[in-house]
Amino acid sequence: MADKIVIVGGVAGGANVAAQIRRNDNESGITLFDKGEQVAFSTCGMPYYIGGVVDKREHLLVSSDKIAGKFDINLQTNTEVIAIDREHKQLTYQDSTGEHQTSYDKLILSPGASAKKPELEGMNDKRTFTLHSIPDMDAIEHYIETDKPQNCAIVGAGFIGLEMVENMQARGIDCTIIDRNEQVMKLVDADQACIIEDHLKAKNVRLLLDDGLESFSSNGATLNLTSGKSVQADMTIMAVGIKPNTKLAGESGLEIGETGAIKVNDYMQTNDPDIYALGDAIQTNDLLTGEPRHVALAGPAHRQAFILVNHLQGDCTPYAGIQGTAIFKVFDLSAGAAGLNKAVLNHLGINYKEAAHEALSHAGYYPGAEKISLKVLFDAENGRIYGAQAVGREGVDKRLAVLATAMKAKMTVYDLSELELGYAPPYSSPKDPINILGYKAAGMLEA
Ligand code: FAD
Repeated sequence: MADKIVIVGGVAGGANVAAQIRRNDNESGITLFDKGEQVAFSTCGMPYYIGGVVDKREHLLVSSDKIAGKFDINLQTNTEVIAIDREHKQLTYQDSTGEHQTSYDKLILSPGASAKKPELEGMNDKRTFTLHSIPDMDAIEHYIETDKPQNCAIVGAGFIGLEMVENMQARGIDCTIIDRNEQVMKLVDADQACIIEDHLKAKNVRLLLDDGLESFSSNGATLNLTSGKSVQADMTIMAVGIKPNTKLAGESGLEIGETGAIKVNDYMQTNDPDIYALGDAIQTNDLLTGEPRHVALAGPAHRQAFILVNHLQGDCTPYAGIQGTAIFKVFDLSAGAAGLNKAVLNHLGINYKEAAHEALSHAGYYPGAEKISLKVLFDAENGRIYGAQAVGREGVDKRLAVLATAMKAKMTVYDLSELELGYAPPYSSPKDPINILGYKAAGMLEA
């Protein structure tokens, strides 16, 4: 050990790597650069700060001095790394005083991704926002406080768009969602998305699906859509996806994969063995199919940090692959998915079947039971589980976690009916909805 380790990017991936290195290594020097002012902040909490659920901004932040002191890191914020000279193991960074160089023995890239903000005709940046960083969050909050918008257009019905709808409405701001897909939340299949759409409508959210934003007019207050419709909005939040930050890696000759993200091996090494990468900037392989995937979620970034640091410190535990298990809340509903959905399975030409089951989250006679909709996609021959989806009010997180665990353990739908998940009336039924889903799916294989 006793290396000079340099980390680029200090939020989910980078901050974790720094902390994990220090568990076993007090000798190596760690320098961490982040072009932003804050490191190790809670990205995932930002929508809830805007909605007022998290009442203090400080609750999302960790003091840079505290992190630097606790983990003995040379932490340089507001500092962007702009070039890597791999041959001489040097990098160039820029801060308020100009450009500087430093050397590294091992370099770790966790530069994340950037929110897409297409340059559309007539767009007014003062009232058009994205949400990817603390300054983005502050800008939205400031606009709400000073301009008192009455309505908001949210372009993109993925999880950030949907989380924002709930939180903007919590501030008394009427929302319209616009998405060029025919359904919300591409992560789940259309039948599950319908449940979410009905719930959004019940919450007075206007849904404009199968329609795209083409341009703005009226100083950015009118959104003109492909269909010819227009939407008036005091503010617009663009939640149309992200792109991995690969410029630095690409310009230094590191390999970029077919998904457009940095290519790494099972130990998070790039094609340069002294440069590792992790998080939203990389692609990994799907747990089941081995196909390359770009998944931008906090859980995988944390696991990748563990694999990476182990490798750096001489242990070779490979990354098992990505499942892409995701869950989100939209008003009173929770919805989640793990593995592959129908669109992906069709694209890959995999022969699969699907079973769905709607049940109560716990015994019907015990107060508070709520409907839960479960679905499993599985191999048409051997029943191996490829994907799972769950939508409902109560017990969604538990069922999704069980199904994701079953997928990781390479279980089949036959195993689902055998699982003993624990029953008492407040929690489940003697046959848990997961068991019944398993019986249904197994029946389809035997038929
Ligand atoms: P980031 O956390 O984005 O960190 C990258 C850092 O690198 C940034 O601070 C950036 O300033 C810095 N950087 C980039 N380039 C340079 C450079 N050249 N020099 C110096 N610094 C640089 N995931 C979930 O699993 N669950 C959720 O509920 C969830 N909610 C989310 C809500 C929102 C609003 C957003 C935006 C994301 C959410 N995510 C969620 C995704 C999750 O936050 C990311 O997957 C995770 O933060 C990725 O970590 P990372 O280290 O790869 O990148």
